[in-house]
Amino acid sequence: MSTKNPKIEKLKQLQVTDSKIAALESLIKDKPGHLNTKKEMVGKLKQKSDAKKEEIKKLKVEVDKNNLELKTGEDQINKFNLQLNTVKTNKEYSAILTEINGCKADNSLMEDKILRLYGQMEGLQKDLQEIDDEAKKHEVELEQESAAIEQELVQIRQELETLYQERQKNSAELDGETLKSYDKIARSKPNRQALAQVAANICMGCNMDVTPQQVNELHREKDIVCCRHCLRILYL
Ligand SMILES: [Zn+2]
Repeated sequence: MSTKNPKIEKLKQLQVTDSKIAALESLIKDKPGHLNTKKEMVGKLKQKSDAKKEEIKKLKVEVDKNNLELKTGEDQINKFNLQLNTVKTNKEYSAILTEINGCKADNSLMEDKILRLYGQMEGLQKDLQEIDDEAKKHEVELEQESAAIEQELVQIRQELETLYQERQKNSAELDGETLKSYDKIARSKPNRQALAQVAANICMGCNMDVTPQQVNELHREKDIVCCRHCLRILYL
């Protein structure tokens, strides 16, 4: 059964508009939050990239240090080789040869170490590249999603503007007191549902009973009747 109370009819129109407004306003509030996960991911990847760069930098310092030591070792061997030309005795000669062999052994170990470090460096650089590629990919996606959301928001704001105007029109058709109590109830309800239908003497807003007297009042279609429990404005 539908009511013919004109006040209720106008309130219903207002509620339709208000439901749409509530839905769009919550969309505006929630939309940007969808980007947060992606933003966090990009942030974490950048931190990882920085840490990797720091590791590479440290390794490079070690490689340079070892290369310098190797160079010193080679210089030492050259020096010994020159000395070989000036020695007078076999004993001196073999002593220098022993030194040279010692230096060569040290250098060989150093070369192995440097090769190992270069290998590590390549691994780190490959990791870095992968991290940077992934960060870049997410950044591009983030930009695209931000732009898409921005566009959606522009559209939603335009729709809202139209709805606000519609609401103003709906409101103007109601008396101040009715509008005031409607607004008060709407503010306190999810999705601003200030109206509730009555079916089989039950308020559909809160599923609690409506008194027979209230049902009679509703049939008379004169005044506004509110649910005793949830305070919503009732209609049949
Ligand atoms: Zn109720």
